[in-house]
Amino acid sequence: MSRAYGWTETNDATIDEEAEVIRMMATTLLDGGSLRGLVDHLETEGISTVSGKAWKPITIKRALTNPRMIGKKQSGDKLVATTIPPILQPRTYKRLCELLLDPERAKYTGDRTQVALLGGGLARCGGCGRPMYAASTVGRPTVYACSTRSSDCPSIVSVQAELLEADVIERVLARLSSPKYRKALTKSINELGSREEGENLVAELNARFTALGEDFADGLIDRETMRAGTTRVRANIAATELKMAQREVLIDLPEPSAEDIVKWWEDADKRRRRDVVSIVVDHLTVKPTDRRGRDGLDPHRVDYVWKTQ
Ligand SMILES: [Zn+2]
Repeated sequence: MSRAYGWTETNDATIDEEAEVIRMMATTLLDGGSLRGLVDHLETEGISTVSGKAWKPITIKRALTNPRMIGKKQSGDKLVATTIPPILQPRTYKRLCELLLDPERAKYTGDRTQVALLGGGLARCGGCGRPMYAASTVGRPTVYACSTRSSDCPSIVSVQAELLEADVIERVLARLSSPKYRKALTKSINELGSREEGENLVAELNARFTALGEDFADGLIDRETMRAGTTRVRANIAATELKMAQREVLIDLPEPSAEDIVKWWEDADKRRRRDVVSIVVDHLTVKPTDRRGRDGLDPHRVDYVWKTQ
């Protein structure tokens, strides 16, 4: 009998190592990674399906959108509870379904080959503070542009993607080549303890999150207390997960020598590059400009907020 990746054959327990792979796949895709990039990554890591075959975009898509991920099954047009232990949070699962079952995305054979280095809200419009997204028009260079309707933003900032990315790459690599910064980054990550301790902490925080909802449902706390509590727990989870992601990337990075870092960057795939940028840069804001024309990027137009000072 075949089993589902992530669970034992009897479906009454998860297999930790596989559950972890599933969560990694979910995070990668929700962070803007492509199915194709994920397939390559799994292959490099020697991670195969239950039957020992290589993962394919379609098998990943099917696995991640299966309601068993949240311990449920499809019954008619409803999802009903089962005894299968969940692997993903309901919110994560919902976002994955929206992403992977999006008909717009299916048009591109279920894959998004263009991974914007500064996607996911990393770049913000200096006019309104909202995220800028990569946009391309046939025959013109790709730009990062304010995602807001023109009536809601005074400036609708737009900047040539290549110029902005070059500035970001230069600054990120300079930071990673600095022994002082690397020391600070390593210190901040070591506060977390081992990988297992980090995972335990996230599990504990998730349990606290659930408990807050239950206390509210049982009338033990009021809505405001629950909201304040869940906001704090969520922030703690995000901070812990960030440190865990930082450590994963750090393990892979060469010693802080500019030459080695640049070489590492050149060999890294798009997904890896994005990971690195997103652990170093909290966000950046591109200010409007009155200058017209195509003179390079004025470095004073970009304000950086770094994740570790
Ligand atoms: Zn704007």
